Amino acid sequence: MPQTALVTGANRGLGREIVRQLAARGVRAVLAARDIEKGLAAAAQLKAQGLDVAAFALDVTSAESIAACVLKIEKDFGAIDILVNNAAILIDGPSGFDASAFDLTPETLRATFETNLIGPLALIRAVAPGMRQRGYGRVVNVSSSAGQLAHMGMGFPAYRMSKTALNALTCIAAAEFARGGAEVKVNAVDPGWVRTGMGGPEAERSVEQGAETAVWLATLPSDGPTGGFFRDKKLIAW
Ligand code: NAP
Repeated sequence: MPQTALVTGANRGLGREIVRQLAARGVRAVLAARDIEKGLAAAAQLKAQGLDVAAFALDVTSAESIAACVLKIEKDFGAIDILVNNAAILIDGPSGFDASAFDLTPETLRATFETNLIGPLALIRAVAPGMRQRGYGRVVNVSSSAGQLAHMGMGFPAYRMSKTALNALTCIAAAEFARGGAEVKVNAVDPGWVRTGMGGPEAERSVEQGAETAVWLATLPSDGPTGGFFRDKKLIAW
């Protein structure tokens, strides 16, 4: 039986590449996209490369959408072994690196947290019962160096805070699963600065490089780590 992975925000960028690399390893990869037409188009490209990829609709800000997507995957494939919380938004702006926390609107902060934190938490909750029951799971939260308290500075305040909170969620969820005794590993990854819609064309890394550590964490062996934050397969500071 191949393992099944759910990757959010996977119609483009790092999410699509994570799906591609997982499928190339023999994982049945679900390419989840909030716009199903974009999801189907991305899945068709990967299928044309001979990869076993299915597109499902999933808006991570909608409880109904999460419930329907998880139910459909479990009905079609039986279980979700791997969850990659990849979908995110970066809407601090327009000044980006210069965006001031003092100008941050509650609307921007709320919208950012809905997608970058509350969505991932809802997805973890949705897959947790199945993972606990089967005693196996891998959860990867795609975070960012922008969320590292060790190097916190100004710019992108809503995005930064959402990724710091996602890192906290990573520690909390890893501890909860560990207490339950099931082999469910939860880790966070910083993909580096990657050439995607979010990273822009000047970024230093390709999507192939950027996806590598997330895929490694998604396919960790039994003696692999849990509750850590990784870049280039190495532990980094929170
Ligand atoms: P991207 O190119 O902007 O892609 C983001 C993806 O998330 C898109 O597929 C987008 O869908 C989806 N998405 C946004 N809101 C969603 C929602 N409510 N429900 C479902 N999907 C939603 O970004 P990326 O660079 O690939 O980033 C992927 C992850 O890496 C993010 O967590 C990001 O924070 C992290 N990251 C990226 C970089 C970088 O340099 N690129 C660096 C550090 C961390 P639509 O196409 O419909 O908009």
